[in-house]
This record gives sequence, C-alpha cells and structure tokens, in this order.
Amino acid sequence: MSEPVAVVGAGIAGSWAALLLAEAGHPVVLHERSGAAVDRGTSHWAGGMLAPDCESDGAEPAVVRLGRRSLALWRAHFPETPLNGSLVVSHPRDRADLERVARQTVGHERVGARRIAEIEPALEGRFAEGLFFPDEGHVEPRLALQALHGRARELGAEIRLGSAVVPEELAGTVVDCRGLAARGSMPELRGVKGETVLVETAEVRFERPVRLMHPRWPIYVIPRAGNRFLIGASSIESEESSGVTLRSALELMTAAYTLHPAFGEARIVEFGTALRPAFPDNMPRIDIKGRLIAVNGLYRHGFLIAPALGELVASYVGRGARDNEVMRWS
Ligand SMILES: Cc1cc2nc3c(=O)[nH]c(=O)nc-3n(C[C@H](O)[C@H](O)[C@H](O)COP(=O)(O)OP(=O)(O)OC[C@H]3O[C@@H](n4cnc5c(N)ncnc54)[C@H](O)[C@@H]3O)c2cc1C
Repeated sequence: MSEPVAVVGAGIAGSWAALLLAEAGHPVVLHERSGAAVDRGTSHWAGGMLAPDCESDGAEPAVVRLGRRSLALWRAHFPETPLNGSLVVSHPRDRADLERVARQTVGHERVGARRIAEIEPALEGRFAEGLFFPDEGHVEPRLALQALHGRARELGAEIRLGSAVVPEELAGTVVDCRGLAARGSMPELRGVKGETVLVETAEVRFERPVRLMHPRWPIYVIPRAGNRFLIGASSIESEESSGVTLRSALELMTAAYTLHPAFGEARIVEFGTALRPAFPDNMPRIDIKGRLIAVNGLYRHGFLIAPALGELVASYVGRGARDNEVMRWS
C-alpha cells in the first residue's frame, strides 16, 4: 500500500496536492484551520484567472511552463472549467502599454473593433484594439476549492476542518501548504497586498476575463455566476491587509466603469483584500527536508500553477521524481 500523507492547508496548493496524492493511491488527511468556508487563506480572495500566456509578460518561464501543464490538469479533472480565453483591451492613451504586452507575450491574436465585438458583444464599439489569448481560462476560487475537496473525498481523502496543526508535529510524510502562515519556518516569505471589488449587475455580460491596460497594475473584470463580476486587483508591496484603501477602490471601480459604463450602476457586493505569499524571487518553491515537503511562494499565480505543483509533489512522494527548477533540498 502507498504511504499515508498529511497535507496542511486547504488553499489551492494543498487542495490540488491532496487530490493528486489521493488519486495516486495514498491515504491522505488534509488539515485546514478554517471552517467549511475555507476563508482564512489567500485563495478565498483570488481572481481565479488561468492565464499562462498573458502572464508571460513579467512572469518567470518556469511559471509559464507550470501554468501550461496546469491548464491541462484543470481540463482533465474539471472539464467544465471555462477555457475560452481572455481579452486585453486598452484606451488609446494606453496604447504603448498594449504594444509592450503584445511584444512580451505569446499565444495571442491581435484584434480590432469588429473582432472584439464578436468575442465580447458587450464591448461593441468601445475599443479599437486589443489582444485575444484563446488558450486561457478562469475558475471561481471558492467553488473550485469546494469542487477539489469533493473530488478528493470521493477518492478517499479525509478533510479535517477546524484543524490547526503544526507540520513538524505530525507523523510520516507531511506536505506543508500553509501559505503565509508558514512564515515561522520560512522567514523569507513576504505578503504582497491585493485588493478586489465584487459587483453585481444584469446590464453587462462577459464570457471570459477582460483586462484593461492601466498605468499601475493590470485591471481585470472576471465574470462570476449570478451576474457578478470580480474587479481586481491591486499589487502593492505592503502587508497591511486590514481593508481596501479608498484609492484602490476608486481605481478599480473607475477602470471597470471605463470598460463599460453599465458598471456605474452595479451593486457593490464585497470588497476583498489578501496577501499573496511570495519569496524574494517571486518564484514558487517545493522545499524538501526529509519527510517534510513545503509548497509555497505561489505569489500571483496560485490557481494557475497549483495543479502542476501538486503533480510534482505526488511524483516525488510516489517515485522520487525530481524537478530541479522548483525543488530545493536542505
Ligand atoms: C486579490 C488577489 C487576486 C489573485 N488572483 C489570482 C488569479 O487570478 N490567478 C491566480 O492564479 N492566482 C491569483 N492570486 C494568487 C493566489 O490567490 C495565491 O497564489 C494562492 O491563493 C496561494 O495559495 P496557497 O494555497 O499557497 O495559500 P492559501 O490560500 O493562503 O492557503 C493556505 C491555507 O492553509 C491554512 N492554514 C494555515 N495555517 C494552518 C495550520 N497551522 N493548520 C491548518 N491549516 C492552516 C489556511 O487557513 C489556508 O486555507 C490572487 C491573489 C490575490 C490576493
């Protein structure tokens, strides 16, 4: 029989690791300190874009590689995942930024006004130029976590909610996916603040995430169930996470309003803020210390890369397979 494994933290990293370990035949116990809503981690607040091509602007090649593999894993395990691309548009004054993204990314099609209207009819007549990334997708983070937990349970994994544990105190092989809460054992981890606004309106319909070029950070609007849209996200080198600032809220909501004026009448459902767990090089890492395996530093890309990281963990636990780009031994 395969060896038992304890996974600590049911955010996106721990949930994918638990699922793929259970699928490989390991008896798995997944410990999560939160209750059923699993709302005490970063994953609860994420946008959920699966955008390896668009993210090749500024992200490390390893992230792009893990992202592409992860898209295949999302597709294989959850065929209902919307994988219908993402659209980037810009106002004429930000055209230079759009050109920069076009130069620095791969896998896109240049689109004009007519094609934009075909892809997202709600944007007809609003933008003259854009980039369409057809091979990308998006998930609703809170629903995706519940779906992962449901699937892991079907495969025999036990999920212990309200179970705050110390990885070093557990017996056997332990996969530590505590996100920023692991800072006690990983002092290099830092939090990068992200803010979002969730709004609701029946006056706009998008089929896929739409990004708008913005001088400070890329702003996206992601469609969610129930006529809701997540507007995100700031990216600020700060660990102050008690709330969304007025300035960020204004910038996010103004950007959505300039994307489509109907957002001006949308109802605000929720402001969100969370810290992205990041190492100094912004690269994800699988740290291996004997029987303790820590998966962390998923930064801006947790939903994009967690499936591939979970697969690497399962291959390492099962047959000692190594990946020298993201694994470290000490
Ligand atoms: C505003 C925002 C937007 C984002 N948008 C995207 C996006 O569009 N696409 C994308 O790919 N990524 C996105 N990200 C990044 C992504 O959210 C993170 O990379 C990811 O959530 C990190 O996941 P994690 O599982 O490592 O950590 P977490 O989600 O923080 O999970 C850690 C879990 O461990 C639990 N835990 C901690 N300590 C213990 C303990 N002692 N015992 C038991 N349980 C414990 C916590 O409660 C938590 O549930 C975004 C992030 C933010 C903030």
